[in-house]
Amino acid sequence: MRSRRSFLQDVSLSAAAISIGSFPKSYNKGRPGRQAESSRILRVAIMGLGSYGTMVAEAMRTCTRAQLTGVISGTPSKMAAWQKTYHLEPENCYNYENYSRIKDNPNIDAVYVITPNALHHDAVLAIAGAGKHVICEKPMSVNVREAQEMIAACQKAGVGLLVGYRMHFEPHTLQVIRMRMNGDLGKILFFQGLSGFAIGDPGQWRLQKKLSGGGALMDIGIYSVNAARYMTGEEPVWVTAQETKTDPVKFPEGIDETIQFEMGFPGGAVASCLSTYAMNHLDKFFLNGEMDFVDMQPSSNYGPIRAHTSGGPVNAPDVTHQTVQMDEMASILLDGKKPLVPVDGLEALRDITIMEAIYKAAATGQRIML
Ligand code: NDP
Repeated sequence: MRSRRSFLQDVSLSAAAISIGSFPKSYNKGRPGRQAESSRILRVAIMGLGSYGTMVAEAMRTCTRAQLTGVISGTPSKMAAWQKTYHLEPENCYNYENYSRIKDNPNIDAVYVITPNALHHDAVLAIAGAGKHVICEKPMSVNVREAQEMIAACQKAGVGLLVGYRMHFEPHTLQVIRMRMNGDLGKILFFQGLSGFAIGDPGQWRLQKKLSGGGALMDIGIYSVNAARYMTGEEPVWVTAQETKTDPVKFPEGIDETIQFEMGFPGGAVASCLSTYAMNHLDKFFLNGEMDFVDMQPSSNYGPIRAHTSGGPVNAPDVTHQTVQMDEMASILLDGKKPLVPVDGLEALRDITIMEAIYKAAATGQRIML
């Protein structure tokens, strides 16, 4: 006989992804094609044709609800290559000087900002000002003030603001969240998050504070911060943190190499996490409850994601994360679908608030209350 747990582990992911509410209708107000929203395609321009932008564009080839129709780039040669590869109309291609004209372009519904972290804020404000939906990469901003301004600008413009939290649509991750919600794990007591890789080229923007806003925590540690929240289902009330730096030349002032941090949750659970640019093989989440545990490794790379409990593997489909993300985001923006775990500006603001507190805790040695 199948146990309740194995039933839950096998439950089709589509159930987990089903709409459970509605998004503010103002997002769609007055937009063309409102009558036939569920069949509409979200037409997206990617800003920043770098390594992740390319991955998203490739993944969008198999989307059913989202389509790449334009680009914003500072590199004319890339723009020309993308026009050819993705069959983009030249009038849908902009540079950083003229992209405010996108407001007059009826063939672009949303802009996906995939530039270095510190450039997200100004871009999001400009895109909102042009009346287009925004999808912004993580971290949404490099501080709390900017995040608040971005949320306010999108609200004022009546456009959606979503953040590229691809794990919020990943089938194994959703399955584990459902198991926790269904009480399969019992009361949640502990989360461990290990997020890191050994970063290469010392000249890259990720190691320049003015473009990155910070080091490993902003870039990769954010996965553990975010997962601690969606895995426990709670918001932390305090953080403590300790920083280690072995190479102050490669990791200058303002660029954290390794930070260990802890979080406390209102229900009594604690989280213990490691964020680092100094070592590979760190991509693991462990969630422990009174009745069972879930071990996920890999837990947030591009997949396939793997998870198991005491009862065996958590079965869920392996997908291309960005394909599912973009189709789901089309449903959120066009149909008002509500995802199981939010991917909006407020969700990002919470992570950024926690990361600011982690930096403060590491600098002061104090426990920071949230
Ligand atoms: P890349 O360096 O590969 O690409 C960034 C692109 O941004 C560049 O190619 C360039 O495109 C544009 N750009 C504009 N101004 C600058 C500048 N001053 N310096 C450098 N590039 C500039 O970075 P990634 O693609 O790896 O990362 C971009 C964003 O995506 C980051 O916020 C990162 O955190 C996020 N990311 C998210 C991932 C996820 O899984 N969700 C994975 C990887 C990254 P152009 O020449 O077209 O202007």
